[in-house]
Amino acid sequence: MGASIAYHLAAKGVKDVVLLERENALAMGSTGRSVGGIRHQFSSAVNIRLSLGSVAKYKRFNDEIGPADFHWVGYCFLLDNEGDVLAFQRNASLQQSLGVPVELITPAQAQEFVPQLNVDDILAATICFADGFGDPSAVALGYAGAARRLGADIRTNTAVIGVRVDGGRVKAVRTERDEIEAEWVIDAAGPWAAAVAAMAGVELPIVPLRRQVFITEPFDLMPPMCPMVIDFSPSFYFRREGPALLIGMADKSEPPGFQTQWDASFRDKVIEQAIHRVPVIESARIARGWGGLYDTTPDANPIIGPVPEVENFLVAAGFSGHGFMHSPMAGQLIAEMICGEAPAIDVGELSVLRFRAGQAPAEKNVI
Ligand SMILES: Cc1cc2nc3c(=O)[nH]c(=O)nc-3n(C[C@H](O)[C@H](O)[C@H](O)COP(=O)(O)OP(=O)(O)OC[C@H]3O[C@@H](n4cnc5c(N)ncnc54)[C@H](O)[C@@H]3O)c2cc1C
Repeated sequence: MGASIAYHLAAKGVKDVVLLERENALAMGSTGRSVGGIRHQFSSAVNIRLSLGSVAKYKRFNDEIGPADFHWVGYCFLLDNEGDVLAFQRNASLQQSLGVPVELITPAQAQEFVPQLNVDDILAATICFADGFGDPSAVALGYAGAARRLGADIRTNTAVIGVRVDGGRVKAVRTERDEIEAEWVIDAAGPWAAAVAAMAGVELPIVPLRRQVFITEPFDLMPPMCPMVIDFSPSFYFRREGPALLIGMADKSEPPGFQTQWDASFRDKVIEQAIHRVPVIESARIARGWGGLYDTTPDANPIIGPVPEVENFLVAAGFSGHGFMHSPMAGQLIAEMICGEAPAIDVGELSVLRFRAGQAPAEKNVI
């Protein structure tokens, strides 16, 4: 998010953009641990629009920014109950009305794309071949490199330890080494965004939630163009990772926290669901796993834009598992807000104010 914002600001000719990263390299937080999925299949118009805008940018990324290993193989959601089928019918109509080439298909049609699927308990599915996946670290490093070439100053090993606010405006950001005066400050600290906001006296309802992912050893029993498959109600998913298979699942009982170790008992639950959905996975061997953090809000929608307490403090965080796919548009929107331009997408409903005004409608297609 920070690299995309820095790039989009620099591309608009904004001078003196400084990106501060406390790790010794970029993409060591959520981004480097992400699965890289990019999809249009959301339940709200604003998320679908963020995907449409971001995918358009990702389609040009290799030419404009650099290689980031995109695979436009599609996303296939599998639905095992009537409630989800009805919800996905509604979502698909909304997605289609906005120009997304998504289709509702039968379980047998899903098997045409992935013959190894067990669809005995599946009622319906969706497929969208405008979806796919890319390499999140390559995107972050690509944006950062492009920003640097345009004059942005990218500092690693530089933790923000304080934000000086005076008269309702941020004056400066403090690091361990110095104080940097700033006309605008953008909090793009992902799972740590609430801590950075607190330094400016701003409360953000963003909590870290662990998600775990596993990779098999090379396993050649899946189709070369296998879509990302999401088994929606158990929140299990898989896709190819080179010659291997990447599998993951959301642990719905995971409490908020910064722990990122993977856990053997949860791995076994993921394998159990994997073998149920794709029986040939029984012959695969897990090579490794990792945990990473979602930056999660109560309604699973991001917070994009200004905050009421501090005039020149903006937030781009709380993406709740969609931050990689939405980072191109989020970067553009923040740059437009700072440059006083009309945002390409109206993201007023993603203001932090929604939490202060009462419950906001939640995004339903969350994994
Ligand atoms: C297992 C997993 C799978 C995922 N799959 C997908 C997916 O398929 N598709 C998708 O779109 N999204 C996915 N996500 C979510 C996605 O990874 C995140 O939404 C996205 O990477 C957030 O980017 P970010 O830049 O906001 O956060 P981060 O990448 O975490 O960057 C925030 C940075 O801020 C730095 N920082 C924190 N505090 C400070 C400080 N005080 N001073 C300086 N620097 C600081 C951190 O070191 C970090 O590098 C997944 C996440 C996980 C964990």
